[in-house]
Amino acid sequence: GKCYPCTHGMYNDCETLKVMGFQTTGMASEYFVVDAKKALVLPKDMSWDHGAMIEPLAVAVHAVRRYSGDMHGKKAVVLGGGPIGNLVAQTAKALGAEVVLLSELSAYRLATAQKCGITTVNPNERNLLDAIVEACGKDRADVIFECIGINPTMKQAIEYARKGSHIIVVGVFGDLATVDMAAVQDHELSLLGSAMYREEDYIKAIDLVAAGKIEFETLITHRFGFREFKKGYDTIDQEKDKAMKVMINMEK
Ligand SMILES: [Zn+2]
Repeated sequence: GKCYPCTHGMYNDCETLKVMGFQTTGMASEYFVVDAKKALVLPKDMSWDHGAMIEPLAVAVHAVRRYSGDMHGKKAVVLGGGPIGNLVAQTAKALGAEVVLLSELSAYRLATAQKCGITTVNPNERNLLDAIVEACGKDRADVIFECIGINPTMKQAIEYARKGSHIIVVGVFGDLATVDMAAVQDHELSLLGSAMYREEDYIKAIDLVAAGKIEFETLITHRFGFREFKKGYDTIDQEKDKAMKVMINMEK
């Protein structure tokens, strides 16, 4: 709460950031204390499932807002159909995007995106650039969201971005990225990072869900009781692309 980002409304970029539940004790504990000012009240009729999904949705809302406060009439390409990519695509649509095309290799995640009403492409089966032109027109996308954090998709983003357009880096890179900075310069691309969310993103996410604009059910792939906590985490490792969101019921 004291550094430059914190005192300028960007507390998600805090210089000494500690995320609750990551770098501090999380809610998988008997008691969990949180400042009242960090808590938001969910609408009375919102289910616990939907309440739990507000967090990943807020990541998506923040990513879309990093590009633009107004998505109306915009054309977007989303690289990656994991939970975050899927929600970025849904959020872009919900906020008025004219075209949203999601690229993903996993058949399971492609089918999940389709069930959520998202137009998809498998770049192993179809040339991605052709698919982008078909969906967006010859001027391609206004914005590309990279939602995996690996070099091949970052390369696609830079290669297929229209000159002067935006790339939002949402995926978390595990290794040093090899990015074609020459193309970023020569094509005057705006390369923007997106990390987590702020309170306003949570509020927007709650509004979108309350308005029925986000499909969550197909994203919840597994459920466990609190006593099977470890099994829940093991499932994420074992099921890989088929584990989208795993719910832990604290009352079971
Ligand atoms: Zn700070």
